[in-house]
Amino acid sequence: MIAFDLKCKNNHTFEGWFDDNEALEQQQKDGLIECPICNTKQVVKIFSSFAIKESTLPTAGQPSKVDFAEIGRQIIEYVKTNTDDVGSDFTKEALKIHYGVSKPRSIRGVSTPNEEKILKEEGIDFLKVPIPVLPSESDQDA
Ligand SMILES: [Zn+2]
Repeated sequence: MIAFDLKCKNNHTFEGWFDDNEALEQQQKDGLIECPICNTKQVVKIFSSFAIKESTLPTAGQPSKVDFAEIGRQIIEYVKTNTDDVGSDFTKEALKIHYGVSKPRSIRGVSTPNEEKILKEEGIDFLKVPIPVLPSESDQDA
């Protein structure tokens, strides 16, 4: 079934459902379509919009899955290559940059909830990215 937008000679617009375009034209020819508002049979089809209603949706392959793990990996990779690792000095360094003491640059590091509060109070924008802790060399002994 296809829904067509129709318009009568008095500019009333309405929607009609037809098997296909031919069915619409046939019914138009036979004078079977009339305006529900003024009942005129002088109705034309508007091409602007239509919807296709299918009883069975086509199964054109699986919808592409979003690989969040891959996106996360790329974000971490980007952050690592584009920021300076200042470790636990993150807040200190962010404040230094903020007040022009340090060279403006993107940094990464760790901060405590208290330090994050300070950054927020100072109006410093920062982005928290959960970075998985990779097994360090010291862990390999276990
Ligand atoms: Zn009408």
